[in-house]
This record gives sequence, C-alpha cells and structure tokens, in this order.
Amino acid sequence: MIRFASVTKTFPNGKTALKQISFEIADGELVGIIGPSGSGKTTVLKLLINEINPTEGEIDVDDFQVHKLNRKKLPHLRRAIGSVFQDFKILPDRTVAENVGLVLEILDIPDKEIAEKVNITLEMVGLPQSGDLFPTQLSGGELQRVAIARAMAMNPKILFADEPTGNLDQETAKQIAGLLKEINNQGTTVIVATHDKNVLDFLKPRILQLEAGELII
Ligand code: ADP
Ligand code: MG
Repeated sequence: MIRFASVTKTFPNGKTALKQISFEIADGELVGIIGPSGSGKTTVLKLLINEINPTEGEIDVDDFQVHKLNRKKLPHLRRAIGSVFQDFKILPDRTVAENVGLVLEILDIPDKEIAEKVNITLEMVGLPQSGDLFPTQLSGGELQRVAIARAMAMNPKILFADEPTGNLDQETAKQIAGLLKEINNQGTTVIVATHDKNVLDFLKPRILQLEAGELII
C-alpha cells in the first residue's frame, strides 16, 4: 500500500513542485499519473523512492515510513519499487544480461542464480536470448524492455514507469503498455506517469491528475 498524506515538496530554490498531495494506492492497482510537463509527476516518483525528502507530510510504502526512513532501510525500500524512465538509463558498455543483473550483483546473489533470474526476466519481457547483445544493437522499444526487465529482476511489489513511452513510436509504445498491463495482471502494483493518450486508452488505469503541483482528480 502506498499512502501520501498532505505531501508538499518545496525545492531549495523556493519552487514548490507539490502542494498538499494526498492519495492512496492499494496493492495490485494500476494507476496513471497524468498532467502536463512540470506538473510534479517525476517529483512523486523521487519522493516515493526517497531520492528526495518531502518538505511536509507523510509518505508510507507498506511498513516503510519513507518520510523518516532510516538509511539502513533505504536498500529495502528500493528493492520494493522498480523504476523505469523515459530515457531507459541502460549502461551502454554492459551487455543486456549485465544491465538486468546489475542490481542482483549488488545484492551479492550467486552468479548462477543471477544468470537464471536474468534469463527468466528477459523471457518475461519478450527478449529471450538477447542477454549477450550490447545496447547499441537494440531498438528503443527493446531498450525499454531491458529497462523493465532490470526493474522487475528483484521482484518488486511496485513498478513505477516515468513516461516510459516518451521516446517511442506509437506502435512500440502500445507494446510497452501491453507489457506493463501484463506485469500488473501478474499482481505487481503498476504506476505510470504519462501524457500519452494512446497508452492511457489502452491501460485504462485509475487516474491521478496533477496540475501545477496540485491533485485535481
Ligand atoms: P513533471 O515530471 O510532471 O514534468 P517534475 O516533477 O519534474 O514535473 O517537476 C515539477 C516542478 O518542479 C517543475 O516546475 C520543475 O521545474 C520543478 N523542479 C523539479 N526538480 C527541481 C529541483 N531539483 N529544483 C527546483 N525545481 C525543481
Ligand atoms: Mg517528469
């Protein structure tokens, strides 16, 4: 369960990106965070993964009180939330398998287990046998699938995709939306920040609409 209670975020330069935002997202929900550029969508993600702290208010993710998280618990929170970005953030000098396995390596999981998990995850995103390829050998849609695989490799409870189709053509965007839907159908809570109307028409998520830092639906 995710809970934002009267969350305000004001950046050090005085810019208030979110004003008194309150919402709850239940386990297994599919939610679309919509709103124009600059309305605060990415700030919601950054608060959720504790990349930044709220100025006011409370943020809970299951048993994690994110607004007053102990540093030791940060890796646990990050394992509960997989993140996917518009620009993929795939490391260009690593193979697909290395990119997907990176987080598992940091967790000190044995190589054999990592290899198995990477294979299963790549299969799940529709890229079986692509593990040895380098990112330059993949299309944008395939890179986004790798990014989704990397986010899902730790079996997170929540997947947050921040404008995941922003750099993709319509047909590819629809395929990525299909993959997000499938991941949600398997039980993962999926939150998509987007202003791609086709993606929203396809996913039909519950909508949270931001406008200039305020939640209007
Ligand atoms: P969105 O993802 O909806 O495009 P953001 O959450 O990135 O919007 O940004 C919301 C507002 O906060 C914007 O006006 C943006 O310029 C501002 N903002 C974001 N990050 C910072 C920062 N680190 N310092 C100051 N202002 C910021
Ligand atoms: Mg953004």
